[in-house]
Amino acid sequence: MNLKIVLNELSNLFFPNCCPVCDNKLLPSEEGVCLQCLHKLPRTNNFNEPDNLAETLLAGRFPFERVATFCVYSKKGVLQPLIRELKYNNKKEIGVLLGKLFGKDLLGSEFIKTIDFIVPVPLHPKKQKQRSYNQAQMIADGLSEATSIPVSSGNLIRSIFNPTQTTRTKTQRWENVKDIFDVCHPQLFANKHVLLVDDIITTGSTLEACAYALLKSSGIKISIATLGEVL
Ligand SMILES: [Zn+2]
Repeated sequence: MNLKIVLNELSNLFFPNCCPVCDNKLLPSEEGVCLQCLHKLPRTNNFNEPDNLAETLLAGRFPFERVATFCVYSKKGVLQPLIRELKYNNKKEIGVLLGKLFGKDLLGSEFIKTIDFIVPVPLHPKKQKQRSYNQAQMIADGLSEATSIPVSSGNLIRSIFNPTQTTRTKTQRWENVKDIFDVCHPQLFANKHVLLVDDIITTGSTLEACAYALLKSSGIKISIATLGEVL
């Protein structure tokens, strides 16, 4: 158990279960976020909207079927503190919860109908060790729970450790990520439709780099789902 986890558990002991968005105390039935804040999530519902903003961003960069984002991500919005807790404060249950809500929205839609596998964007093992889990995996687990589509992690891998993306320009980001992903067993995804999952789409360069690796599988179809969009 690393220091970050110990500190977090101590803080939970002294400051029990408050909603990370509004700071109100959570009811025993509420898990990680209060119901009021969950209702305020700015859903895009863009899984029903071909040529949505995220699809326009990625169009022409690699072949894909569809792209859907769960919510709009903005600095003062409801999603921002939730993603922060998920990524930097060991609140993996928030990822599962949001993934599950997204999955429920997608259930029965054309968007999800032909998906064979849900594939989380991998973290480098070193970073995963620091964080103790991969946030995209948590979202994928929630999506899987709601839709009963299996998660495939371990086939798409991150082979090179790269520093944080947040302070880089678009070109720098692409330089930073273009060769860092690989697929271990391309035949596993051959002729399958995979749903690539990440926390946020900003420039799309991480997703593009993953797609380049995934395209080693012949006949693969790629769709994308992220919790947030900054577009
Ligand atoms: Zn709240």
